[in-house]
Amino acid sequence: MAHPQALLVLENFIGGKFVPCSSYIDSYNPSTGDIYCRVPDSGKEEVEAAVKAAKDVFPVWSSKSPSERSQILNKLADLIERDLEAFAQAESKDQGKTITFARTVDIPRAVHNFRFFASSILHHVTECTEMPTMGCVHYTSRAPVGVAGLISPWNLPLYLLTWKIAPAIACGNTVVAKPSEMTSVTAWMMCKLLEKAGVPPGVVNVVFGTGAKAGEALVCHPDVPLISFTGSTLTAQRITERSAPHCKRLSLELGGKNPAIVFDDADLSQCIPTTVRSSFANQGEICLCTSRIFVQRGIYSEFLKRFVAEAKKWKTGNPSDPTVDVGALISKEHLEKVRNYVKKAQAEGARVLCGEGVDPLALPPGNQKGYFMLPTVIAEVKDESCCMQEEIFGPVTCVVAFDTEEEVIKRANGVKYGLAATVWSGNVGRVHRVAHRLQSGLVWTNCWLVRDLNLPFGGMKASGIGREGAKDSYEFFTEVKTITIKH
Ligand code: NAD
Repeated sequence: MAHPQALLVLENFIGGKFVPCSSYIDSYNPSTGDIYCRVPDSGKEEVEAAVKAAKDVFPVWSSKSPSERSQILNKLADLIERDLEAFAQAESKDQGKTITFARTVDIPRAVHNFRFFASSILHHVTECTEMPTMGCVHYTSRAPVGVAGLISPWNLPLYLLTWKIAPAIACGNTVVAKPSEMTSVTAWMMCKLLEKAGVPPGVVNVVFGTGAKAGEALVCHPDVPLISFTGSTLTAQRITERSAPHCKRLSLELGGKNPAIVFDDADLSQCIPTTVRSSFANQGEICLCTSRIFVQRGIYSEFLKRFVAEAKKWKTGNPSDPTVDVGALISKEHLEKVRNYVKKAQAEGARVLCGEGVDPLALPPGNQKGYFMLPTVIAEVKDESCCMQEEIFGPVTCVVAFDTEEEVIKRANGVKYGLAATVWSGNVGRVHRVAHRLQSGLVWTNCWLVRDLNLPFGGMKASGIGREGAKDSYEFFTEVKTITIKH
């Protein structure tokens, strides 16, 4: 364990100031298993102070013009970009993800989130209709809602938190954000840049702590009319219940059990590396990761052979080594949970083709106590198995065979989730047909994770309620009014 003197100690950011907390939670470095940071264990009192600060400055911030807010968002983006390397190092250490992923995905996307909403806020138009027989015109007007509560998970810490903060403040709301207690460091680092960017004190407040204490206090606060949440379906159910007495507006971005469907005319030279990436990127800890791969029977054996060979090329180890592809999982408990899925599959008669329990995992001496696991491919799993039904959220993917288009659509839709799906085929008619019938908020064909932030993002069924994106986030973070003028 690290010497207590060396621990990084975070503070809440309320009303433009860093404020110590009366109690703290330990935060681990997943790649070493050491405690390295202490995170405020905030509760009602801290949330109350943050909501008050956000409420007090709302009249000032909401009356700024979109272009004034846009300039501030762009400045903040520039400052994060200036410090990109320090943010990437911190994200990798705090979360266990590889430095390469943090450098090329997490932090650049956090920068882009601010730039994107700084631009998109300038381009919205409202509606207007005429009713000449009544001598009237009608138009809509949109206004920020107030104090937004933003709750984010641990898998893409700054990336997902800024995906909420940027549209919320661009629209003129003020915010109280609560990042995951397991990954709070980059949010704290961002707070240090707010003043320099010109964000007035109180516009962005960050309260650190657990979901049960800090998260619930935010969800139950009567002066927070909207909650944007990304996390598990189970937590979303709890948030829905707790916020119901206040009739809050909710945006819920939840888990997935995403299928990839590979038809026998797919270009395997593209499909295999991309599907290995969609299964194992960020240790499989992305809500959009593929975890059920349906392969048409004629190419099943060849696919499996080439897929396993490709998966074995992925190097697992010290996340700060730029040649490593798979870092550490978020926690010891999560690692155990993911491993248990593999054990259950084996007990049910499935075959583990590579990874956990099959191949040796060699780790550098400093990482022996870290939470590592090799990319694992399981075949011959039954559709009813928990490995095919539940979100595993780790480096584990199941590969099964199918015969017909009709059959695979039914099987792909046969889970409670509906977040993302991937279809691989050279037949353009088929990709459209299948895409239309999949119960999934996002369908990628012959690619994965290519995103245009203008368009809606979100899930169906147990994967969420609401969508985020340029227009969708604008609508969520503003209240619309219809005004009629008689002339
Ligand atoms: P989680 O639901 O455990 O926690 C998410 C956040 O909610 C954390 O900040 C946590 O402290 C907070 N929280 C927990 N209990 C709460 C409560 N009762 N009230 C208020 N807040 C509470 O999820 P996680 O384990 O951090 O993240 C992994 C999950 O997130 C996976 O299911 C994954 O699929 C999902 N996810 C979804 C998306 C998406 O865009 N759809 C993106 C990333 C992750």
